Amino acid sequence: MPKEDYEIVIGLEVHCELSTKTKIFCSCSTEFGGEPNTHCCPICMAMPGTLPVLNEKVVEYAVKAGLATNCKIAQNSKNDRKNYFYPDLPKAYQISQYDMPLCYDGYVNIETEEGEKTIRLERIHIEEDAGKLNHDDYGRGTFVDLNRAGVPLIECVSKPDLRSKEEVDAYLRKLKSIFEYIEISDCKMQEGSLRADVNVSVRKKGATEFGTRTEMKNMNSFRSISRAIEYEANRQIEVLENGGEITQETLRWDDISGKTFSMRDKEDAQDYRYFPDPDLVAIRLSDEYIENIKNSLPELPESRKKRYLEEYKLIPKAANFVTSSKYYSDLFEEAIAICKNPKTASNLLMSEVARILNEREEEPDQIPFSGKELGELVELIDKGTISSSISKKVLEELFENPKSPSKIIEEKGWIQISDEGAIKEVVSKILEANPQSVADFKAGKDRALGFLVGQAMKETKGKANPQMLNQLFLEELKK
Ligand code: ADP
Ligand code: ZN
Ligand code: MG
Repeated sequence: MPKEDYEIVIGLEVHCELSTKTKIFCSCSTEFGGEPNTHCCPICMAMPGTLPVLNEKVVEYAVKAGLATNCKIAQNSKNDRKNYFYPDLPKAYQISQYDMPLCYDGYVNIETEEGEKTIRLERIHIEEDAGKLNHDDYGRGTFVDLNRAGVPLIECVSKPDLRSKEEVDAYLRKLKSIFEYIEISDCKMQEGSLRADVNVSVRKKGATEFGTRTEMKNMNSFRSISRAIEYEANRQIEVLENGGEITQETLRWDDISGKTFSMRDKEDAQDYRYFPDPDLVAIRLSDEYIENIKNSLPELPESRKKRYLEEYKLIPKAANFVTSSKYYSDLFEEAIAICKNPKTASNLLMSEVARILNEREEEPDQIPFSGKELGELVELIDKGTISSSISKKVLEELFENPKSPSKIIEEKGWIQISDEGAIKEVVSKILEANPQSVADFKAGKDRALGFLVGQAMKETKGKANPQMLNQLFLEELKK
């Protein structure tokens, strides 16, 4: 059967590090980086006899995440021990939540080619992160860094509702943007603050049962997730087409070879010997507590989008794009407060900024300039100080060396030529050099004008005011 007759089924377990100041069960800092083993204490280093105390902020942040993703909030919940040994987990158990997660039965909506689609969330629970193993490049062994041990996480488990790598991308971006909006995490994928376990299976189209899944752990870039899904689905289809069976296992995606490798057989819940952590009290949330958090939620992307469509009259594509990330959206709002031109500001983000980020393989949170610079840039375009082709160069410069756009154009000598005398000179020069185009235009070939304007732009290195060029060429040609 050809590949097209199979359907891909994907479910995601997304881990998100919460940006509380302190860890989940002790008062150590959660800050990323730092010399190895400097953000730890006897509790997060798992010394015998120490006792964990739950950080209330963690519960608050997780409830925020639940409410922002339409989950029900459990008023009775608890922490459980998930037992397994690994060198980055000195307690030999992770404190997590098993059968009573804090949030459950939620959903988020994503945009797909066929319109809006709802992806259901099974649960969101709280847990602690493990430490980090650093494998020495010189073969001297492996070093354990416990700075990350005990950093609070939420794990969001989706139902297997996703059907393509495009949907996975949209879902993950949506979740990331929601968490950024409610400010519970910096969601920096490159620092591992947001990472996903990607569960993939395939089945024949029309089948009612799901196929056996494999799971790729700890993926932290959109690009590798897409590549991994594509590779893994094709691999599974090939196994099935050759009469084989899929083994339920945990895989490792290797970004360099572009292949998945088997890590281990999949554990079952029973392998973890879950039980309630006897060192921690149960979690009880009052109606009032939940209500207060609900009232404290900031404006979410859906509502910003509506506002952009109605107030700023953005086209749906632009409104979707700008609200897809809090970083874009905040930049946009800051910019239009200065330039009062939502259309140009959103266009620059959607076309140029997105293109540059893509080239640099970076995400919106890595944009090095602020809305102030973007707003100023739009103003310079609106005033005719620079042409739109120069604005692209200014944006590239802003990525390299963020500072005031007017400084940039001054230093680089990029100010648009709007002086009539200077432009007339260029126009005469180009007309003289291109008699054929002049003849063409007079013979009714309007395209010739575009060519002449293009030549003049080239001559002035993009600095001539295009409206003036057009007008002056027309005047001359019609003489
Ligand atoms: P575990 O911790 O054992 O991986 P979870 O229930 O936490 O189990 O997560 C299972 C994840 O796998 C969920 O995101 C779910 O949507 C997804 N999933 C379950 N069955 C399938 C399947 N047949 N194909 C793809 N994804 C699946
Ligand atoms: Zn500690
Ligand atoms: Mg899993």
